[in-house]
Amino acid sequence: MILSPDIRSIHRDPPMGERLVVRAWVRTFRNDRFISLSDGSTASLLQAVVDHTQFDPELLRRVATGACLEVEGRLTESPASGQKFELQVDRLEVLGDSDAEKYPLQPKKHSLEFLREIAHLRPRTQTFGAVFRLRHRLASAVHRFFDERGFFWIHTPIITGSDAEGAGEMFRVTTLPPGHTAQTDEGHPDFSQDFFERETNLTVSGQLEAELFAMALSKVYTFGPTFRAENSNTARHLAEFWMIEPEVAFAELPELMGLAQEFVQYVLRDALEYCADELALLDQRQAEEDRQKPADQRAPMGLIEKLKFVVNNDFERVSYTEAIEILRQSPPNRKGKFQYPVEGWGVDLQSEHERYLVEKHFGKPVILYDYPANIKAFYMRLNEDGKTVRAMDVLFPGIGEIIGGSQREERLGVLSAKMEQFHIPEASLWWYLDTRKYGSCPHSGFGLGFERLVLFASGMSNIRDVIPFPRTPGNAEF
Ligand code: ATP
Ligand code: MN
Repeated sequence: MILSPDIRSIHRDPPMGERLVVRAWVRTFRNDRFISLSDGSTASLLQAVVDHTQFDPELLRRVATGACLEVEGRLTESPASGQKFELQVDRLEVLGDSDAEKYPLQPKKHSLEFLREIAHLRPRTQTFGAVFRLRHRLASAVHRFFDERGFFWIHTPIITGSDAEGAGEMFRVTTLPPGHTAQTDEGHPDFSQDFFERETNLTVSGQLEAELFAMALSKVYTFGPTFRAENSNTARHLAEFWMIEPEVAFAELPELMGLAQEFVQYVLRDALEYCADELALLDQRQAEEDRQKPADQRAPMGLIEKLKFVVNNDFERVSYTEAIEILRQSPPNRKGKFQYPVEGWGVDLQSEHERYLVEKHFGKPVILYDYPANIKAFYMRLNEDGKTVRAMDVLFPGIGEIIGGSQREERLGVLSAKMEQFHIPEASLWWYLDTRKYGSCPHSGFGLGFERLVLFASGMSNIRDVIPFPRTPGNAEF
């Protein structure tokens, strides 16, 4: 019998002495003899060996970097030190030729910026192969985590008619022809002729809809595409990203903080266990990159060391008020090193402040909570002090905010007053307010940007490198 395993299973349990058929892409072809093959199933390559006297030279000339091959032969022990086994090829077929001279992925080191320009080919590199296998494992761990705890996955809509989600700029969805300028008598755009007969946008968050389901199924989560037309060209923002939003009935803020920590630690622990090869490769990549940097810009820990640290240590819980005090007294603030000096209570924290707290002051993930009401969304629960809300942000080293969440305002009167204060018409969210009229209850939830999690877990430094096809201002080529 001829087996045709993927390269991952060959490495897991090498079928020594067996005849195998392997289909994979050529990385390199050395000395007319050693073909290094990858099928992307694992970080490991397969060494295939050909005796060039046994093959048509014309055929071997087509064994070029990037070409796709089918090779057949016996798996034997390798005399060389690089690998334990190799495939002794006696049949070789070129399934797809590659023009090795023009092939953009030469067997050398390419910059991540260059690879972004060839995003259709970059998954063939070792780095991106590792990132996307890791991404898959993290995504599957997300579902396992919630499933094991009795949460239901809710598919909230991608096209939304709600314009009050309040999380930033939205992309409009329309079938009106370009240049359509119909206006209502009041001079607003007239959407009555549009497909949905109202204004619709791509969702910026599934939270409000998830809340409706939490008030019915108790524990739910969303995991889906999210869109923000924010013009922030940072290494942490995408216009299209994937968000995970658990929403839990009867949970108050401390319980939500516990869930956030348990969740992140669970998925990272899972990655450490099941993506050991990928993480070893990415750890090495980060270390190499660090060596090019000045000493003060290097990561304080290796990738795997950092992940283990986060998995094994409690996150620090700090109130906004305490954080402001720490920041006010901090050396960079006193020496005028912050771009935005921290003067008093009430200001929103900038990423330089978040990073100081996490990276310099506490040296571990931090959960900041009880923020001033006026810098947070209308649906967050008002505290007894009347000026702070039960919000929490989870801040990570190197990333800044990875999770934003809150206990929700479940009291109809307080919520209505807040909406009025924020100029949100009740008519636009009548269905949301209904949950507060019929069986309201304390509940809490958070949103975690999946790519920020992958960014952290992979040690990559730009969010564009952890999503297959990044959408950012001015960029939607692939
Ligand atoms: P930031 O201040 O970083 O822009 P935010 O306060 O706008 O974040 P939330 O509205 O609380 O974020 O969204 C929840 C989570 O979604 C964030 O904690 C983050 O992980 C992720 N997120 C938000 N905006 C983006 C984006 N443009 N690209 C990728 N992830 C994002
Ligand atoms: Mn934002």
